[in-house]
This record gives sequence, structure tokens and C-alpha cells, in this order.
Amino acid sequence: MSHLNLVFLGPPGAGKGTQAKLLSRRHAIPQVSTGDILRSAVKNESPMGLKAREYMKTGALVPDDVVIGIVRERLECPDAQTGFILDGFPRTVPQAEALTLMLDELGKTLTAVVSFEVDRDELVQRLVGRRTCPACGAGYHVTYDPPRVDGICNACGSTLVQREDDREETVVNRLEVYDAQTAPLKAYYSSKGLLREVPGSGPIDQIERIIHDRIFGSCRDTA
Ligand code: AMP
Repeated sequence: MSHLNLVFLGPPGAGKGTQAKLLSRRHAIPQVSTGDILRSAVKNESPMGLKAREYMKTGALVPDDVVIGIVRERLECPDAQTGFILDGFPRTVPQAEALTLMLDELGKTLTAVVSFEVDRDELVQRLVGRRTCPACGAGYHVTYDPPRVDGICNACGSTLVQREDDREETVVNRLEVYDAQTAPLKAYYSSKGLLREVPGSGPIDQIERIIHDRIFGSCRDTA
């Protein structure tokens, strides 16, 4: 089977991470989330993490050279040789151009760019209600997917936390940053014939099926 090299594009809260995890499991290819990698650097207080935190806490983007370096290193790992899902990268046109160059050098091509479409009001509701378990990584939503006991992880009993950048004032900024810097990537990938738009609202398994159809339909179309 040909390699599955994917980009998941969409505003924060659109469900890229949720769907990337499902597809990653189904096809045994890694989910490469620059947000997760940066958050782990922040937690470990590495030099890169200390620098990134200043941008992340206000909802601004971390400088291109930092994230481009992270992705290059990750795509060279053995587990990314049969496919990958880039979740949250690229987020600017220079990042997309760097990715094109990097993939050329690594002898890889993108299979598709899946773009998640969700209403602005719904995104805000999703982001501000999001909670995660700091111990096991499980995700919840206070309204749409609450834990059995308020504020406590079903899986491991730890106290759930809200991401620093999921507070309402930061969320608004992140969505503005998306419109200004990331949304132009839709035109970039559309012009290359790679863009596959999917609705990000609705039941998770239904969205999963639509993504599957859009990706594998696209493989057949371009074969
Ligand atoms: P996410 O988890 O994808 O919402 O990312 C959280 C934060 O990490 C973003 O608000 C940015 O500050 C930073 N970040 C993640 N990916 C990138 C990227 N590709 N370029 C710049 N900053 C990023």
C-alpha cells in the first residue's frame, strides 16, 4: 500500500487531534502534533520550551524556524517512514513552503490535506469547555463529554486541568491568529490539488468516515 502522508488543517478546536488519533491507530502511522511536542518541551522546561511558552500562553504562534526544526527531526524518525499525520503544522505559508522543500529532500509527497470546517461560535464553546488529564492525557469537555465525577479523570482519578491557552481571552486571539496566518494555507493547498474539506461538526464516527472517504477517494482520483 502506498504511504499515507497527511496534513490536518483547521482552527483550534476543530477536532483535528481527535481524528488524528483515530486515523493514527487505524493505519499505524504517527500523529505528529507540534502543539503536543511544544507542550511537552514547556513541561520539561527545556530551552526550547522556555522560549515557546511565552508565545503559547498568549495564543501567538511560535517562530517558524523552531517548529520547522521540530517537524524535520520527527519526520526523519523510523516510525514516520510509512506515513504520518501532521496535526497543527504547517500554520503559516513559510511553514508550508518549508514542508514542501523538506518532503522533496526526504523523497516524500503529501497524499492529502484535510481541512476541518467548524462554525466560529462552536469553536469557542468547544475550546473553553475542554479539559485534560495531566497524568494520562485523556480528554473531556464539561458539556459534551463530561467525566463521571466533576473534574476527575474517569481513567486514572487525577484532577483535570484546563490548558492555559483555552481560557476565553486567549481562545479569541488564537482564532484571530488562525484567520490571519493559517487560513491562507487552504488556497495554497487547493492550488496544488491536495485540499479535502470535511465538516468538523457532528458525531465523531461520522466525521471519521467522511475523512476516510475523502482521503481514499482522493488516492483513487489521483492514481
Ligand atoms: P495546538 O495544540 O495545535 O493548538 O497548539 C498550541 C500552541 O502551540 C499554538 O497556539 C502555538 O502557540 C503553538 N504551535 C503549535 N503548532 C505550531 C505551529 N505549527 N507553528 C507555530 N506555533 C505552533
